[in-house]
Amino acid sequence: MEKKVNGIVVKSVSYLEADKILTIFTLEEGLITTKIKGVKKAGAKLKACSEPFCFAEFILASSTNRNIVTGASMYDGFYSLREDIVAFYAGAVALDFIKAFCPEGEVLPEHFDLLATFLKNLCYGDGIKEVVLIDFLLKALKLSGYGFNLATCATCGEDITGRVFFDASSGSFYCIECVTNSMEISAKTYSVLLNAENLLNAKVIDVDTQYLKRALKLIDFYIEERIGEKLKALKDFIEL
Ligand SMILES: [Zn+2]
Repeated sequence: MEKKVNGIVVKSVSYLEADKILTIFTLEEGLITTKIKGVKKAGAKLKACSEPFCFAEFILASSTNRNIVTGASMYDGFYSLREDIVAFYAGAVALDFIKAFCPEGEVLPEHFDLLATFLKNLCYGDGIKEVVLIDFLLKALKLSGYGFNLATCATCGEDITGRVFFDASSGSFYCIECVTNSMEISAKTYSVLLNAENLLNAKVIDVDTQYLKRALKLIDFYIEERIGEKLKALKDFIEL
């Protein structure tokens, strides 16, 4: 049986001499694994569609539990990601997130839209890459049921204006009056997380870049502490 799916390649691994095994995050079927034949040969027609980040309509021939890509038409290869190391690593974080948080075969259209929008912003937008990534991670965590409770102090419900405390086991933030045994974080880091969506399209922001990295470190810490996942690409990105 043949079918068409819209998908973004999140992983591409060499297989035998000329083939590849692709992990594709599809709108219609969630994460799928599929073989694509002959793409390592020079001049192979489907070569460009077998690279990570490629967004295409894939034609799959499927039997009981096996898919083979027999055709593809590219929407966007997001090639400029390869020319900017910061953007490339930021994109790799998003692919890592999808692999870690989206179970194979689970249909997750909101995650799909978020990933496609993120890659477009990263490639063609003017926003600061770190901010674009922070915004993606906050939204992706929320969609996966692990959103931060950022807006107010989790106990008294008031805006947090002074010192800020964070509890990684719940993703909650507290003011100085309500804190019990949470760790203190910089008010500027908190402000970055709180305002990420508003900062998304700003070319210049009034925040030292170290607080962007600190916000990413906090997200990395939270993902590991609360969820037990490690996103290798996020650690690499923080080290850049
Ligand atoms: Zn409070």
